[in-house]
Amino acid sequence: MSLDEYLKKRDFSKTSEPQGEKKLPADERAEGRIYVIQRHAASHLHYDLRLEKDGVLKSWAIPKEPPTAKGVKRLAVQTEDHPIEYANFEGIIPEGEYGAGKVEIWDRGTFNVEKWDENEIIVLIHGEKLRGRYCLIRFKGQEDNWLFFKIY
Ligand code: MN
Repeated sequence: MSLDEYLKKRDFSKTSEPQGEKKLPADERAEGRIYVIQRHAASHLHYDLRLEKDGVLKSWAIPKEPPTAKGVKRLAVQTEDHPIEYANFEGIIPEGEYGAGKVEIWDRGTFNVEKWDENEIIVLIHGEKLRGRYCLIRFKGQEDNWLFFKIY
């Protein structure tokens, strides 16, 4: 169960974040899967990049503003999978809860996969701020650390 870690970290009697329902995985070839970036003013401000895959939102926390232009590389730390419904979440996670702080949608749209393997992901992002071909590359030998940048 891919959402186990997400569910374990949260107390849904306190946070208004979605609990999620089981979703059928989108067809691997499907066009226009969900893309969203949430600006998350937690103890450290960061941007949460989420890409729909296999019925969940694969997620990365980016400590600085995501690149809208070529030539800027950003660290992207992979975090737990989130439920699909999280793509619409905005609100305040209460003090004392996991990720306490304000969550706002910073950019959203769809994406197409050009390549998605264990260490490299290439996607065509159709957002309002991010548009074009983007790459995520996992640092060698590091489980959660990726580099995120625009190819063109
Ligand atoms: Mn976050």
